[in-house]
Amino acid sequence: MKYNPLNMELLEELQLLLEIPVKYDQETLERYSKDETAELQAVIPEVVIFPLDTKEVSEVMKFANSHLIPVTPRGAGTGLSGGAVPVFHGIVMSLEKMNRILEFDAGNMMITVEPGVITGEIQKLADRHGLVYGGDPCSSESSSIGGNIAENAGGNKVMKYGPTGYHVYGLEVVLPSGEVTSLGGKMIKDVSGLDLIHLMVGSEGTLGIVTKITLRLLPKPKYSVALLVPFPDIDTAIAAVPKLMTGAGVVPTSLEFMDGSSIKAACSFLNIEFPYSDAGAHLIIEVEGSSKDSVFEDYVKLGESAIEAGGLEAFVADNRNTREKLWKARKSIAEALASVSPVHCMEDVSVPMANIPELIKTSEEIALNRNLEMIAFGHAGDGNVHVTFIKGDLDDSIWNETLPQALNELYSKTTELGGCISGEHGIGLKRKKYLASITDKAQLDLIRGIKKAFDPNYILNPGKIVDI
Ligand SMILES: Cc1cc2nc3c(=O)[nH]c(=O)nc-3n(C[C@H](O)[C@H](O)[C@H](O)COP(=O)(O)OP(=O)(O)OC[C@H]3O[C@@H](n4cnc5c(N)ncnc54)[C@H](O)[C@@H]3O)c2cc1C
Repeated sequence: MKYNPLNMELLEELQLLLEIPVKYDQETLERYSKDETAELQAVIPEVVIFPLDTKEVSEVMKFANSHLIPVTPRGAGTGLSGGAVPVFHGIVMSLEKMNRILEFDAGNMMITVEPGVITGEIQKLADRHGLVYGGDPCSSESSSIGGNIAENAGGNKVMKYGPTGYHVYGLEVVLPSGEVTSLGGKMIKDVSGLDLIHLMVGSEGTLGIVTKITLRLLPKPKYSVALLVPFPDIDTAIAAVPKLMTGAGVVPTSLEFMDGSSIKAACSFLNIEFPYSDAGAHLIIEVEGSSKDSVFEDYVKLGESAIEAGGLEAFVADNRNTREKLWKARKSIAEALASVSPVHCMEDVSVPMANIPELIKTSEEIALNRNLEMIAFGHAGDGNVHVTFIKGDLDDSIWNETLPQALNELYSKTTELGGCISGEHGIGLKRKKYLASITDKAQLDLIRGIKKAFDPNYILNPGKIVDI
């Protein structure tokens, strides 16, 4: 695909469409040239723009479509698959200034927001009204709701509430042509036409730009308790995941896994101590409910099942302070890792829950055979594990040669185990070549056909998911 560069004349035309000045100073261009994907190269855009409303987004898309200029939408830049990296330079469109809460509709338990709102703000606002927003990625304090929708972000409460897409009821979308369309609304049921909302969710900014979002909120459970269960080793902890749920007959809100190295990294990063900090692995299990008694009954059953499955002890965090401390440690693992090992590759392979032990075993073998360090943590309850390969002291050339081999093997084993190569971070740029190698032609053709129907000139976030 051949794109046009933004010459002086086009730049002036673009500026006339926007209230905030178009930025092209080196510092801004560099800041918007990458996301949080540690191992991807930055790509410098030609300009960065900050639209303030749907009209500006739409005008820019009409301009870009008619002049064949690539546009890369961007939320908060916390992505872990390179989705916001501008592969063909062009325009980076940051939605960060479209960050207003448009309506809080307590009666319908719905909230309507702009895409640049930080997810944690939605969680806090809902909480103040006795409601809950069920999306909870570990990056909730830094990622935007627009980015969460584009990636169908998962997180810590997927077992009970499902991923981001489960909460999305209405979307306003600017198409690559600049046309604006409204999908869904506040209806709980809607089968009028195709389910385009859930085609947009997870489309990684390749089909349209989300400019308004209506999310469903739920009643806030009155009580919640978290358990911290240390295990002697990773295998026992991982094998306990399905056992403890079937044993207790309870599906918890969260069931998170951290291996010994992740715990150590988080504790040293936060300067805190964990009980059994030398344990091989820990599980965090959270339950919520409307009465103290039902929550008590559930966590006792889960704690007993966990110990039967090999847990060393079950620590109960039943007040806000201790629960927050646990979650802070869990949520800081990625940051802790980045501070000690800036070059690493964090994966988010996803398999049916009962196959996690096999996945971890294979990942350990893959790392061992190639002298790579590996740590693992993640959303074990939904089969989504962050297997992370670490460069450590390896030479750059060995790391660059070894990593793709390790990923190829990891992805093919994941597929054999009935899983997929990304459970929540997306394909983006990082996994594009691997998706092509494990997906059948019929499906790749469908993805390409859908992209073409939305974006015949291939100007919106080109270079992502599949090659055209
Ligand atoms: C410390 C840390 C912890 C994380 N934990 C989790 C986790 O628990 N679960 C999880 O799922 N992810 C997690 N992530 C990954 C990341 O936070 C999510 O993918 C998040 O959804 C990205 O949101 P963002 O606003 O930063 O989007 P960006 O990174 O800016 O963009 C991501 C993608 O969305 C597109 N996009 C952004 N806004 C729009 C829009 N308005 N319309 C259309 N497309 C758009 C971009 O083009 C890009 O393809 C974590 C990341 C970090 C750094």
